[in-house]
Amino acid sequence: MKDRNYHGLNSPSCSHPLSFQVLKGMEHIHCDVLVLGAGLAGLRAAWAAKEHAPSLSVLVATGPSGPSGSSFANRNNALGMQVLLSDEECRIFVREVLDLAPPGTVDETLVQLLARESEARFRDLQSLGLDFRREENGTAARQPGCGSPYRRAAIFDNLAHTFNQFIVKTNGCSIDFATNTSLLGLLKRDGRCVGAWGMNNGGTPVTFQAGATILALGGPAPLYQNRICGTGNTGLALGMLREVGAKTANESFLQFMWYDGHGRFQNLTRLLGNGAYVVRQDGRRVIPDIREDLLASREGHCPAFYGREDATTDEFLLSHAWEDGWCRVELSGEVVLISLMAHAGNGGAVVNAEGATSLKGLYAAGECATGMHGANRMGGAMVLATQVFGRRAGLAAAELAEVMRDVKRPDAKLPPGAFALHDDQYRIDMDILRKGMQRHALFGPRSGLETFRMELREIERSSDDRRTLVATGSALAIAEHALAFAEV
Ligand SMILES: Cc1cc2nc3c(=O)[nH]c(=O)nc-3n(C[C@H](O)[C@H](O)[C@H](O)COP(=O)(O)OP(=O)(O)OC[C@H]3O[C@@H](n4cnc5c(N)ncnc54)[C@H](O)[C@@H]3O)c2cc1C
Repeated sequence: MKDRNYHGLNSPSCSHPLSFQVLKGMEHIHCDVLVLGAGLAGLRAAWAAKEHAPSLSVLVATGPSGPSGSSFANRNNALGMQVLLSDEECRIFVREVLDLAPPGTVDETLVQLLARESEARFRDLQSLGLDFRREENGTAARQPGCGSPYRRAAIFDNLAHTFNQFIVKTNGCSIDFATNTSLLGLLKRDGRCVGAWGMNNGGTPVTFQAGATILALGGPAPLYQNRICGTGNTGLALGMLREVGAKTANESFLQFMWYDGHGRFQNLTRLLGNGAYVVRQDGRRVIPDIREDLLASREGHCPAFYGREDATTDEFLLSHAWEDGWCRVELSGEVVLISLMAHAGNGGAVVNAEGATSLKGLYAAGECATGMHGANRMGGAMVLATQVFGRRAGLAAAELAEVMRDVKRPDAKLPPGAFALHDDQYRIDMDILRKGMQRHALFGPRSGLETFRMELREIERSSDDRRTLVATGSALAIAEHALAFAEV
């Protein structure tokens, strides 16, 4: 990624270049379209916005300058994408996604768009030069994705290469980057989103003011003690949305998968189906009393699925977890420690077909948006969502920014104490928060969640560190949704 210094942000190809000012120790950057986050969703959105309206200034503000997030700092170094090559595949995909969605909410219009635009977005990625696996005859090799028996997920390897190809594309169309930025909040004025703010690498406060803003900061998995999401994401998106009052849904429906203490994925069907015992904290060994057909069906999906009968297996293990959150499974005399690990979120901003949220001027795409899937998501459907709705949000944001480019935008005001950061307190509070989320908001509400919600409110009330405040907002969004959902 071209790691431009802010002073060099004026892009000669823009008739409306970025403007840069330093006022009272704070940087103010003005652009037309602001994209927050440089994962698959953010980079696709930026690319679409710039190609649609080349004269607009498009700025991506993000954390690390290299590969980051679950898109590019993903431990599997490969990603699957649902690719639907016929009307019949589209029809089956839509039906399956709608079937997987309960008990969450889903918008069929968005699911239809995912299906209809999947082939075109796949061709875009092929043209970008991604390393898609191929059959011997050269066609894309497709595998079943979690939750579907059909072989429709095309897989690409080498995520550093993927990131590089996206950066070649975004640099090629003169998109600007403000990397090493720690984003801390959205800017709202007169009922609309007018940008975002944070700290730059040197610790200087910075505001990014824009005609249209696209939130693509990824999901809430970083809020859990045990997690397997990519690095570089702080899990703040839900908290930022909450702070500006944008409508969200499906917040507590995160995907969790079972991993052992060495970071190896554990297939429950195989682990428990071979004469294993579960060792309880009191030392007793319990034989898993799980219906054979339910244990067998658990093999069809890596994440635990909400509202599904085969979640009996996950619930059985969770009911025997020790105080430290780990389950002990004894197999052939050997004890394996396993835990549910946060993988990705299925909740986020409620968006329409253009990726617009309920707050004017704000769009959302990728893991921080929802509605194209509900509580459970098919494997490969998130990468598809980043491409379909990242592009759609980019196009719509560019159109709005064209209208907004001549509207005078006075500098936005920030909340008092906005930039207060207290590293030690942040670390302590995040440790409490992550342990609490792991214990009380794991695959639905667990015992003690109501009390933990009160603790979170207390942290929110007393903390004077911005990151803690917004992360607590994200955690509260999850806890409150889980509790409300449990009451229904
Ligand atoms: C191990 C693993 C395997 C997966 N496999 C699949 C798969 O095969 N198929 C599939 O469809 N999905 C899969 N997923 C899910 C999918 O990878 C992610 O949901 C998707 O990549 C998210 O893309 P995104 O652009 O929304 O967010 P991310 O890729 O997470 O990007 C978020 C961006 O925001 C930046 N950021 C976040 N917070 C801040 C902040 N406060 N300040 C500055 N910058 C910030 C990050 O640095 C990053 O650039 C997998 C996930 C994991 C973890």
